[in-house]
Amino acid sequence: MLRLYNTLTKKTEDFKPLNPPIVCFYSCGPTVYDFAHIGHARTFIFADILQRVLEFNGFDVKRVMNITDVGHLTSDSDSGEDKMEKGARREKKSVWEIAKFYTDDFMEMLVKLNIKKPEIICRATDHISSMIRIIELLEKKGFTYKITDGVYFDTSKLSDYGKLTGQPFDKLQKSLKAGARVEVVSGKKHSTDFALWKFSYSGGRSFDSAQDDVAKQRQMEWNSRWGRGFPGWHIECSAMSMEYLSETFDIHTGGVDHIPIHHTNEIAQSEAATGKSFVKYWLHADHLLVEGEKMSKSLGNFYRVYDIEKKGFSPMVLRYLFLTSSYRKSMNFTWESLKGAQTAYKNLQAQIRQLADQITTRTNLSEEKLKKVNKFRQEFTDSINNDLNIPSALAVLWEVVKSNIPPGDKYDLILLFDEVLGLDLNKLKVKSEKSKVSEEIKELVEKREKLRQGKKWDEGDQIRQQIEKSGFTIEDTPEGTKISRR
Ligand code: AMP
Ligand code: ZN
Repeated sequence: MLRLYNTLTKKTEDFKPLNPPIVCFYSCGPTVYDFAHIGHARTFIFADILQRVLEFNGFDVKRVMNITDVGHLTSDSDSGEDKMEKGARREKKSVWEIAKFYTDDFMEMLVKLNIKKPEIICRATDHISSMIRIIELLEKKGFTYKITDGVYFDTSKLSDYGKLTGQPFDKLQKSLKAGARVEVVSGKKHSTDFALWKFSYSGGRSFDSAQDDVAKQRQMEWNSRWGRGFPGWHIECSAMSMEYLSETFDIHTGGVDHIPIHHTNEIAQSEAATGKSFVKYWLHADHLLVEGEKMSKSLGNFYRVYDIEKKGFSPMVLRYLFLTSSYRKSMNFTWESLKGAQTAYKNLQAQIRQLADQITTRTNLSEEKLKKVNKFRQEFTDSINNDLNIPSALAVLWEVVKSNIPPGDKYDLILLFDEVLGLDLNKLKVKSEKSKVSEEIKELVEKREKLRQGKKWDEGDQIRQQIEKSGFTIEDTPEGTKISRR
């Protein structure tokens, strides 16, 4: 039975989806105003592993991931600038160009890291009308109030506001006030209240002289019954998840930074709007740090997968590194640890290549070996089902590699495990097989050798062309003829 740690209940629970075998699963996606970094990579590898573990358990996963291309402000207290607009000014491009460029960069990162693409990837800017509909519903139900800055959600109207944090309402008020880096929006009734819709300059909102010019340049804005403006970040995920997965669904993931505000507010507005429970299982990945600080775009202390590659590391090495620690613990990134992962991953690849070359004919497994295979499979399954204990699952993989079960069965088991680990181990066999020189080619090489010894150069050359057409190259060296795959 798959067990997962649920941030909502603070317990590790048996996973029982609402409508088995279907699992409806939403992941908060990136805000596309700058390059994706390896901190994001860690969170999205975690979500990928979760999807793979669900599939390994026979579930039919329907997964949605959004792209935040509007409304995510530089401050969590609703007073900062829209990160997308800021990115556009920085690069002197349109917000739409910025969004496209960094979405493509993010998608490229997913491919490099062998992260499965969620079935549905949706952009916030394509769902503005759904967001407006939810805000209208909240207004009808009396959960909203309008101030000069926008339309806000009144968090005091919900008896269990903040349940994801496990903190009482008054404590949340204080911690938010203390944590606010910029001034709190004036007119907000409680510090936990949050924007559903923000007015833009052309929507009649006034800005102080320092912000005035910037506000006038805003590119993304829409009409609404309250005034021209743009949606708050949290309403985006409520609208898109409910649109594709229904009002109550199984799993929602994100980084731990989303717990106190983004996800807390998603729950509040969704449950207030529908009167139903929003999500059954909330899972959060802890952060990737650099020298003890969260790796982030805003701190500028980030590395991209591209930086890793430039230093000679394959993206799969980074994936391997992330699999060596629990998703619920923060991880400090160092180049030393990446080197360690590289050594381990290369070793694993070498062992599997060797193994692939050893596979000849299959024999029936002895009872003892069959027991071993089953034991390994069970241990692996138990590890991944124990709240995604991937470090332990990796240890089982290594035990298999070192075991004495026959190469063919060993190989099958490794490939089965790799359906969850996603370390691209299945590609090794193909490569290894491809690089083998067939008997037919060997014969041609010998024939050419004889022709050349008899000084029949033209005929020898024809044979060389024939060999090259089959995808091999020939090199005449002092040690003899060398043949290799092109
Ligand atoms: P953002 O682009 O900031 O909206 O972040 C997209 C996702 O990446 C969120 O789930 C964040 O929690 C996660 N994330 C951002 N920075 C890090 C980090 N340093 N380590 C792990 N996850 C991160
Ligand atoms: Zn979200």
